[in-house]
Amino acid sequence: MKALRYYGGKDMRLENIPEPEPGPGEVKIKVKWCGICGADVQEYQGGAGLLPVKKPHPGTGKMAPITGGHEFSGQVVKIGDNVHGVQVGDKATVRPTIPCYKCYYCKKGQHIQCAILGSIGGAADGAFAEFIVVSNDNVYRLPNEVTYEMGAFTEPLACAVRAVKRSRMELGANVAIVGAGPIGLLTMQVANACGAGKIIVFEMLSNRGQMAKELGATEVINPKGVDPGRAIAELTEGRRADVVFECAGKSDAMLLSETVSGKASTIVEVGTMPTTCDFPFFNLFFREKTIIASQGYVDEFPPAISLLTSKKVRCDPELISAKIKLDDILEKGIKELMGERKLEHCKILVSPEL
Ligand SMILES: [Zn+2]
Ligand SMILES: [Zn+2]
Repeated sequence: MKALRYYGGKDMRLENIPEPEPGPGEVKIKVKWCGICGADVQEYQGGAGLLPVKKPHPGTGKMAPITGGHEFSGQVVKIGDNVHGVQVGDKATVRPTIPCYKCYYCKKGQHIQCAILGSIGGAADGAFAEFIVVSNDNVYRLPNEVTYEMGAFTEPLACAVRAVKRSRMELGANVAIVGAGPIGLLTMQVANACGAGKIIVFEMLSNRGQMAKELGATEVINPKGVDPGRAIAELTEGRRADVVFECAGKSDAMLLSETVSGKASTIVEVGTMPTTCDFPFFNLFFREKTIIASQGYVDEFPPAISLLTSKKVRCDPELISAKIKLDDILEKGIKELMGERKLEHCKILVSPEL
């Protein structure tokens, strides 16, 4: 079967590899759609650090080359012995995290902090392929109301669900979203579904701002050319945001998040910021602001699927910029659409069936 194999930075190859078969406790899925994530692009551009290149991953025992792709949906086509809750023919999505289930954090139910956490599409073969075999533990059935396209959003949506959960946002809270990329737009919709008051989105690109507006933002502000603190104060009776989700992963976005946050607010770092940031901690002190981080998910797949089922979170077709075939994933998907022309797009979905 065809698969996009990650060898290392700047080295991904579309190759023919043997079709995997399920062993005991495993499920074979025919991939329908797989989203391209920023992490896949980073992996191509120089290595995001997830791919075990030099030695096998301590959890999965696998090393490069590994098939990429972790945001996907598909149909169950075969199951091994001792598989429960899944049947051949089911529509499914997969939680990519592979925890050890034995370490201190796993035992506390915080498997995202597992000492040897691996992930499908990073430290085990992913879904930029025709078929994938995964553990029964990772499979979640999708109801009829959720299209395969929507199912491919479950993984990034689970990140958004966790961010809102961890923020402890109160009903009616004023929320600011900084950065309206895929994660920002999903987090905005989850906050809305969870009873946010006003949702003010800060976004410099007009195409993304327009999407935020269509998907339920109260107001979209381009932070360039205005005083963003004053702008949000005017919309919130001087209070500013009670909860801010920093979804851009940039130091200036973190500073903006602090500017637009109000007294006793919480700032949630959802974007992954690789740089340091000259942050005004003094401002936190008198206003008793809290900064927290939210990474990935633990048990957020079921609520994410519920939000897709009820259409409280919209993504198909709203967040889909292009659908491409697996043959085109490297040149068109990763290098062009999500590389050079990244800012024009939201989510690119890939299918081996096109
Ligand atoms: Zn991702
Ligand atoms: Zn563990």
